Amino acid sequence: QQKNRPVKAFKGGFATYDARIFSFREKDWTVSLTTVEGRERFGLAIGRYQRERLAGSNPKSATLVKRKDGSYSIQICVEAEPSPPQRTGRVLGVDLGRTDIAHTSEGDNWNGQQLNRVRDHYSRLRAALQRKASKGTRSSRRRCRQLLQRLSGKERRFQTWVNHRISKAIVSRAKATNSAIALEDLTGIRKRVNQQPRSKAERRRANSWAFYQLRQFLEYKARVAGVSLIPVPPAYTSQTCHRCLHIHPEQGKSYRSGKSFKCGHCGWEGDADLNGANVIALLGAAVNQPRGSGLFCSLVGQSRLRATESPLRTA
Ligand SMILES: [Zn+2]
Repeated sequence: QQKNRPVKAFKGGFATYDARIFSFREKDWTVSLTTVEGRERFGLAIGRYQRERLAGSNPKSATLVKRKDGSYSIQICVEAEPSPPQRTGRVLGVDLGRTDIAHTSEGDNWNGQQLNRVRDHYSRLRAALQRKASKGTRSSRRRCRQLLQRLSGKERRFQTWVNHRISKAIVSRAKATNSAIALEDLTGIRKRVNQQPRSKAERRRANSWAFYQLRQFLEYKARVAGVSLIPVPPAYTSQTCHRCLHIHPEQGKSYRSGKSFKCGHCGWEGDADLNGANVIALLGAAVNQPRGSGLFCSLVGQSRLRATESPLRTA
């Protein structure tokens, strides 16, 4: 939301506008602002995305920012009007996995390999630059710092774009199939991934803001679309078999190695993230029932009981 006409007698920095001194008109995409010289109307130089967001909205506040080059931009605060969440028994489980960025219980998945390659590349570059930045002449140190800053911006924008795409696809899928979305509790994601860190690179990914951003995008887009979000406790989701609900059913026989999961109890074998997403969907469906928490407890209780029983059985 930008425009380039100067506002008279507005010096530097930014100014906040509320409904008394700011209004937006959709028919010609203009805003009216009170300036020192009175009320003035300005055209907005905006793209399709901004128009979509502004259309039908009634923004009550805005921030006018003066840029370094003397041009102005305006940030208009649009309140998302959430559609009422749908009532549904269907649940789409989403596993924010390790090798995959996201995997749904319907089998859709977004592979992290390309993204991880890009990130690892940036990370190596950063490390090299940081080493350089600590030695060398004053000007070469400064150049390194500038380059580092530019790199981090590029990486961040790429990641943000990826997260937008993934969250949008998941939410529209849930909307189209009239499903709620079940996700592991945020606090659990960090813990679970850290429990079995397979490499330094993987730990770095797990703790990155990118996981949190994807989660935030999912929450936001789901709210706007009226898709309900069900958080489920993350304990055991990766070790439980979604078909027979046994946790580590038989020691030495079930395993999760890399991308594959095999249940030693019922013999189900397949993608580990797909299994995780299905367990999450089952837990979510149990929570989503009327009087859900009771069912949910019994489901988890049952699995836990079996889990503690199984070593005895195999011994
Ligand atoms: Zn099984």
